[in-house]
Amino acid sequence: MSCFEILQLKSVRFFVWNISLPDPQPAGAGQFLFSIKSQILRSPPASSNIEGFTTPINHFVRFDLESLFSKNDVEQQVHDAILATEQFLKQRNVTALAKILSEFLVKNYGLGLGLGLGSSKPNSPIPAVVVEVNKTWVINPSGDYGGYMMDEVGMFDGCDHEAANEESIHLSLRNLFAVSVFSVLKPIDGSEPLGLRKVPRLDSFQQFESAAAADPDDDTSCAICLEGFSGNPCFKLPCSHVFHGECVAQWLWRKRSCPLCRFQLS
Ligand SMILES: [Zn+2]
Ligand SMILES: [Zn+2]
Repeated sequence: MSCFEILQLKSVRFFVWNISLPDPQPAGAGQFLFSIKSQILRSPPASSNIEGFTTPINHFVRFDLESLFSKNDVEQQVHDAILATEQFLKQRNVTALAKILSEFLVKNYGLGLGLGLGSSKPNSPIPAVVVEVNKTWVINPSGDYGGYMMDEVGMFDGCDHEAANEESIHLSLRNLFAVSVFSVLKPIDGSEPLGLRKVPRLDSFQQFESAAAADPDDDTSCAICLEGFSGNPCFKLPCSHVFHGECVAQWLWRKRSCPLCRFQLS
């Protein structure tokens, strides 16, 4: 009897969790939350076939923002985290999933770009990357897979349509960090709202190849890193301020407002 595996990456979201924890976490400590739904199909379909996905099973795996200095570091940590869930059958699926997921995290959240803004103080809000994956195992006693020929990882469209709700993520994090239901919650960063905050994705902003293209009258340097815009893609926030992509992405891990005018981003 043999088995093959189809994976679909359904959604990826980056949150920060602004809660004072009973056990303070070291600087840079983040959490992946892999929320995995499974189904087993038989080929050809048997009368005993159970179709449909299970309710999601959550797996938390720690990651370390302090040691993400390059895109390769991100891919390596993502790969090891996926492996640590012990939920996947095929090594090449783990590798393919790690590649899609890490590219998304670098591109939209500035992970691994090593600007120093990424280094966090102890007692900062916890970064939490929530990843939803659907896993299908197709089992065929005779080894004949009909139309299915190989293991595959589904293309990722970046949509949130199956996303677990934020209240359940909040509850899972409370469990993980043993925050009692009786305890009074307090923010760890008093200047930001208590609880879970979704970090905006870079692709939700207007992108330009240069600041001059974004706004001809604007300054020629990025107000976050104070360096020039030459050769870097930059992004315009809804308040019309322009920053390097990687600078503003990492800023948004910390704060939900524009660094120049404090415009609040939803
Ligand atoms: Zn910059
Ligand atoms: Zn602004």
